[in-house]
Amino acid sequence: VDFTYPPEAEAFRAEYRAWLDANLTDELRGLAYQGEPDEGYLALMHGWNRTLADAGYAAISWPVAYGGRDASVMEQVVFAEENVRAGAPGTLNPIGLANIAPSIMAFGTEAQKDRFLRPMLRGDEIWCQGFSEPDAGSDLASLSTSARWTGDGWVVNGQKVWNTYGTLASFCELLVRTDPTASKHRGITSLLVDMTLPGIEVRPLRTLTGEREFCELFFTDVFVPADAILGAENDGWTVAMATLSFERGGVASLHLQIRHRIRRLVELAHENGTGADPLVRQRLADLHTRGETLRFLADRAVSRAAAGLPPGPESSLIKIVWSQVGRALPLAAADVAGGVLAWDVATSGRTATELLSSTSLTIAGGTTEVNRNVVAERVLGLPKEPRS
Ligand SMILES: Cc1cc2nc3c(=O)[nH]c(=O)nc-3n(C[C@H](O)[C@H](O)[C@H](O)COP(=O)(O)OP(=O)(O)OC[C@H]3O[C@@H](n4cnc5c(N)ncnc54)[C@H](O)[C@@H]3O)c2cc1C
Repeated sequence: VDFTYPPEAEAFRAEYRAWLDANLTDELRGLAYQGEPDEGYLALMHGWNRTLADAGYAAISWPVAYGGRDASVMEQVVFAEENVRAGAPGTLNPIGLANIAPSIMAFGTEAQKDRFLRPMLRGDEIWCQGFSEPDAGSDLASLSTSARWTGDGWVVNGQKVWNTYGTLASFCELLVRTDPTASKHRGITSLLVDMTLPGIEVRPLRTLTGEREFCELFFTDVFVPADAILGAENDGWTVAMATLSFERGGVASLHLQIRHRIRRLVELAHENGTGADPLVRQRLADLHTRGETLRFLADRAVSRAAAGLPPGPESSLIKIVWSQVGRALPLAAADVAGGVLAWDVATSGRTATELLSSTSLTIAGGTTEVNRNVVAERVLGLPKEPRS
């Protein structure tokens, strides 16, 4: 670990903290994430996104030309720290801002950048990611949704699944197979698809928590115009890997929210006396240990980023530890709240929801097993797993 907070980052901290003090309302402070957002949540979050965008804080790592601040790595760290400290909510458009926008900046035409980036920044247009299919998840390159070129566009047929915010999305970054004769990583193309096109059906999926957070997307003879292509034809794998690397690059600040929640839990155990219970003490000490491990791993990732290096295999270590501690946290919260029967009453169902939704942490953004493969091969140098 080798980084310090330069004076510019501390100056930015003071500026942003003052801005948050002036603009973050009590209603927004600590606003809980809603997997299936209601109208009130959407209106609040949309307003907050616009306020952030107008002040240049909606996506500080973006270039100034697109509404960002060209923020350095340490300014981004400070920004994340201040948001957690103040209890500021996230963004309404997480996939668009963090994953898809950087891909549009890297591979898009000027017309695409002009058309898409501003409304995305303000939360006026929400984006979803159409990558996974029923038979292509971890093995994404097996995807089979097809796109046939017609001379002035593509006709798309097939199905996607697990599309977060699919019901809210105006646009989708869609991976399609444009050359079925090429090897599986080659014949893929990335399209920026208007979700109102005829032939697209969005079917919400209800999860364990009862919320309809995901969707299935069905495409039946959907005509997608030629200018929707992102990057080169049949080079969609390069675009997809860039999009996923931006998602994984965000892991460095994951420990902040987790450690904040662990601190709150320990405070509660002090207040209500459950900290005297030997099993609760064990669980809290274990949680604290994992939270601090996560922090040290994240700090190493920040060091690499601050040195201008791309994310290394430590992103996989962070993802594994983060998902484990994320699953252990609601269990410990239930103990501190007085046990299984009392927990729902004590927390108005929030801990129970967190417990159920935490099961997705070991799957989203790369499963634990797939990340262990990365660690085995790239960190430990063990033989590669057999590939089909
Ligand atoms: C919260 C959440 C949000 C998501 N949002 C989106 C989204 O917006 N857009 C989108 O396109 N997708 C999204 N997904 C889907 C996600 O990308 C996939 O679930 C993930 O890639 C795993 O694919 P799968 O579900 O098909 O499981 P599979 O790949 O079928 O895996 C099944 C099991 O086999 C294991 N396995 C697979 N391959 C290997 C291997 N090589 N070695 C060892 N074990 C292996 C896996 O670890 C897993 O336990 C989301 C998922 C979640 C949970």
